[in-house]
Amino acid sequence: MDIDGLYDITFRIHRFDDHRLCWVRVQGAVYVDAKKDSTRFTGTMLDITDIKQAEEKRAQLAAIIRTSNDAIISITLEGIVTSWNASAQRMFGYTDKEMICQPILKIVPEDRQDEEAHILSRLWNGLEVEHFDTKRLTKIGNLLDVSLTLSPIKDARGNTIGISKIARDITGKKQEERRKNDFVAMASHELKTPLTAITGFVQILMDHSKKVGDDFSLRVMSRIEAQAKKMGSLIQGFLSLARIEEGKIELRKEVFELDALVSEIVDDAKLLGTKHFFKLTGSEPATLYADREKIGQVLMNLVSNAIKYSPAGSTITIGSEKMAGKVIISVRDEGVGISAADQKRLFERFYRVNNDKIQNTTGFGIGLYLVSEILRYHNSNILVESEEGRGSIFYFEIDVPSR
Ligand code: ADP
Repeated sequence: MDIDGLYDITFRIHRFDDHRLCWVRVQGAVYVDAKKDSTRFTGTMLDITDIKQAEEKRAQLAAIIRTSNDAIISITLEGIVTSWNASAQRMFGYTDKEMICQPILKIVPEDRQDEEAHILSRLWNGLEVEHFDTKRLTKIGNLLDVSLTLSPIKDARGNTIGISKIARDITGKKQEERRKNDFVAMASHELKTPLTAITGFVQILMDHSKKVGDDFSLRVMSRIEAQAKKMGSLIQGFLSLARIEEGKIELRKEVFELDALVSEIVDDAKLLGTKHFFKLTGSEPATLYADREKIGQVLMNLVSNAIKYSPAGSTITIGSEKMAGKVIISVRDEGVGISAADQKRLFERFYRVNNDKIQNTTGFGIGLYLVSEILRYHNSNILVESEEGRGSIFYFEIDVPSR
């Protein structure tokens, strides 16, 4: 009997027992007799479903990487490129041949090379790196705004053996943001001039009404003044937001007395016609070293929120406490309070709490974002403790002058 043919066929079957779709590979030989009729065959049948599924998954991943609009790059823990997809080539101008086995630092601008070292050292130590926005350099020397997502590549034992990077080109989005910020800054700036004129003329009319004893006009005029002040602080908020977004904020630090600043803030708040009581606490007068105007903005935002989110007639307490070269400043109210979930998000740009109790309170959700950014520039941060229905306390620390 001769072997007439060898066969090796892969096909799909439905299993008899559970009807699952499986892949099988059959290999073997067909035996024939003298008349060339096949008489028997021998061979093996192997269930290769796992291998097939792994192949399909790998092919799917490869297709995603090939067609993705984002640059997908992998590097070793030493920062050497091991894979470079078509979008990476499109984005940075280097072909895979020019980048594979090369240091990733080729696309990192000079002033950001430390950033890459920091990322690698975190991943070496098994720590996570959050997604972040940065800049990268193209082959022809252009700077791109990119958003980077990094994930460790692990071996079967869970050891990190490399890094996968996804870079998204956000240059267009950043330009759009810049245009929007420029517009907001310009519009706010232009609105300030007529508002200053309105406030000035109202002052003149108030003086006149006082002189001629016209109480009615005086009352109306002080309402106009209060509303103009509110508008002024809204405009100031927009202007500060645009400057912070552009990283154009500069601190002018000076030595000043906290008490005097707090009195100015409370006087301003009273001018707006609030029906709250103010209590100042603090063992001794505190001298600070910070940007007076900006800390004033922080306090004004916290005090206006305390007024907005607590009932008329309740007390707002502004406290200060000296502690180890710092002064802790706090603003406490007896208002609606903030849930634990909202406390986590309060300082995000445009975040506003959505609940029935404060449905009619207006605002843009930028006050606390500005507060946290101004304090960040002072190497400080804002903290909150609050209980719903009982009130809130916001506090932060500021340096005292070094002797
Ligand atoms: P805005 O007051 O303009 O909405 P903020 O950024 O100042 O914006 O505040 C964000 C949100 O935080 C507010 O919408 C409000 O729900 C909540 N919030 C801020 N301060 C207080 C406070 N003292 N008591 C209760 N809720 C507050």
